[in-house]
Order: sequence, then C-alpha cells, then structure tokens
Amino acid sequence: VPIIQDEGVALLRQLVQIKNPIRILEIGTAIGYSALNMARFSNAIIDTIEINPESYQFASEFISKTIYKDRINLILGDALDVDLDNQYDFIFIDAAKAQYIKFFEKFKRNLNQSGIIFTDNLIFHGLVTEEIHSRNLRQLVMKIKKYNEWVVEQEDFDTYIYNIGDGIAISIKK
Ligand code: SAM
Repeated sequence: VPIIQDEGVALLRQLVQIKNPIRILEIGTAIGYSALNMARFSNAIIDTIEINPESYQFASEFISKTIYKDRINLILGDALDVDLDNQYDFIFIDAAKAQYIKFFEKFKRNLNQSGIIFTDNLIFHGLVTEEIHSRNLRQLVMKIKKYNEWVVEQEDFDTYIYNIGDGIAISIKK
C-alpha cells in the first residue's frame, strides 16, 4: 500500500502543528498511517474516507488499537459520493490522482477561510518531469500535470507546489 513519503509526512506533521486545526478531512486513508500522524501532532477530529473495503477494515483495526481511536472517524465509500456537512481547517487529498480536481472542487466548500488543502504526489516519482513510454502511465501523468497547472490558477486559493517528498501543493483558502 503506498503511503506518504518521509519528507511529505514531516511537512504534514509540521503544518498541522502550526495550523492546529479543529477538524481535518482526509481523502484516501489506506492503512491509516497519515491519519495517525495527523492525530498525533494535533488535537483535531479527523474524518478520513477510504473506498477500498479491505483497506478500510485494516485501518479500522489498526486505529482501534491506538489512543487516537476516538478522534479518527473512518468513512467507507467513494469520496466523490460522500457528502459532509462539517467544516474543516485542513484537507489532505491523497486518493486517486486522476480525480484530484474533482476532490478539490467538491470539498473546497467544506473548508474554512484560511483553511489548507494539502495535495501529494504531484511530481509522481519524478515521472512528471520525465519522458514515459506506457500509454496508461502517460495519461495519468498528463492528469497530474493538468492538476498542477489548474491548482495554481485557482484565484480563491493561494497555492505553491513544493519539490518535497513526491511533490506537494499547499493551497490556502483566501
Ligand atoms: N493517506 C495514506 C497515507 O499516507 O497513509 C495513503 C493513501 S493511498 C496513497 C490512496 C488511497 O486512496 C488508497 O487506499 C485508495 O484505495 C484510496 N482511494 C482511491 N480513490 C478513492 C476515492 N475515490 N475515495 C476514497 N478513497 C479512495
């Protein structure tokens, strides 16, 4: 299961400490590694959405054995079908790369002013800057490039893409 890289998680941990969010939304729980990191370095309630039932089950069991279990709410489903009424100070988008624009568009209304959207994998193992021969991979990389261009153009957000870990965009709602 792919999880956030060391440099990326270091930045995530520091950002949640600086921001001290009341509520965090994560899209893409996987085994719960990043959710646990965010729980450990904040006092936030964390809602985290996972589409894969096996990953959801694994993460539920993993998180239930920790002292953070009461602050992490796992939601099973496709994030694009999950409607949430909560307002968040921090949103971590870390699910299907091809859908990043859709996740961002859908959940930005749940983000408070000065809230942060954190998106990972924007360099995608360096492939965004390399020449690729597989057609599927090339299409995915095109979508990531498109997201990179799109996200910096969003006028209601102040965004910068950092060459940290696998490439991270920090977008702050104006
Ligand atoms: N955030 C995790 C971490 O760093 O520990 C890693 C998440 S992993 C890169 C991406 C996860 O997103 C996978 O477990 C995948 O099943 C899930 N996913 C993909 N598409 C999704 C969707 N539409 N809604 C919710 N989860 C999705």
